[in-house]
Amino acid sequence: MGFTLAGACPAVAPIGAPRLAEWLERGYAGQMDYIAARQQAYEHPQHVLDGARSVLMLGLPYRTVEPQPVQPGQGRISRYAWGGGDYHDTIHDRLKRLIGWLKERVPGGQARGVVDTAPLLEREFAQLAGLGWIGKHTLLIHKPAGSYFFLAALLTDQELAYDEPFTADHCGTCRACLDACPTQAFPQPYVLDATRCISYLTIELRESIPHELRPGIGDWLFGCDVCQEVCPWNQAAERRIPIPSSTPTPAWDVAPEFRPSAGANPVDLIGLFDLDDEAFRQRFRHTPLWRAKRRGILRNAAIVLGNQRATGARSALARGLGDSEPLVREACQWALDQIAGGQ
Ligand code: SF4
Ligand code: SF4
Repeated sequence: MGFTLAGACPAVAPIGAPRLAEWLERGYAGQMDYIAARQQAYEHPQHVLDGARSVLMLGLPYRTVEPQPVQPGQGRISRYAWGGGDYHDTIHDRLKRLIGWLKERVPGGQARGVVDTAPLLEREFAQLAGLGWIGKHTLLIHKPAGSYFFLAALLTDQELAYDEPFTADHCGTCRACLDACPTQAFPQPYVLDATRCISYLTIELRESIPHELRPGIGDWLFGCDVCQEVCPWNQAAERRIPIPSSTPTPAWDVAPEFRPSAGANPVDLIGLFDLDDEAFRQRFRHTPLWRAKRRGILRNAAIVLGNQRATGARSALARGLGDSEPLVREACQWALDQIAGGQ
């Protein structure tokens, strides 16, 4: 079905559920209220599929070419969002085929595929299914493949042949991700304060980004890969599988939909300020960037331009001062102040 990683485990109550409660208690989820709203559902996969007995965890790598250097006036996009479409659609198509395959063999069997959106502690189940360990940056690391892959799950009421859980932790004394995070988003190893994470700030946060965190955002327009970039397990994955520099040949079997689309990274920021709602929709409707909406992307673009002291962006930012969205106007004013202050 095109999944590169697969492992199965019983559909048990995950031991990480109390940690989730504590994480929410500390306010680390920020505005992601949908997590707290379904907190109890995370306590058992039965809440995702009634009668669930097994979880099949699946991985799809998305690492392709290495990122191009960013020039002033450009913004960086997290690797997972370089493809031309929405990864949820790609993965759900494959899950549907897998469910069809299962139902042909087990008439009456129940199954449900999930990607991100269900209350399931996917990383913990991936560890139980033997795929790897949860690193200090809180992401799953597969020893040969590193961490650049999407996780999906198929829950079923059938019993499967289970894999051995992955019990080792190969982070050791390393703390590269903790030290490299530009916004100090890790209050301690294995704990992420999402309210400080650039991925949250540029994608999930619907409001103005706190001023003290703006410089740390640097060139990131959408998401952030820093803690994964510095992880030695991703460098090891790169070393083991040679990637020809002249072609976008991936290290792993990457779905065609995840190959970088033209202009996906880096993105020219100034032109974004010419996009009205309809033009923005046309360009981004079927990409992961759509989640941040036009106002979020323009807010982020202004902050990147301010961080870059991009003098060539002055007129675009001045146009942004007249935008219908207060979020965009505020960020543009901030960016113009940074540019003026930097001269
Ligand atoms: S994604 Fe970026 S901002 Fe978020 S924790 Fe990792 S390094 Fe920090
Ligand atoms: S950078 Fe080091 S500490 Fe962080 S996840 Fe990778 S191996 Fe673990």
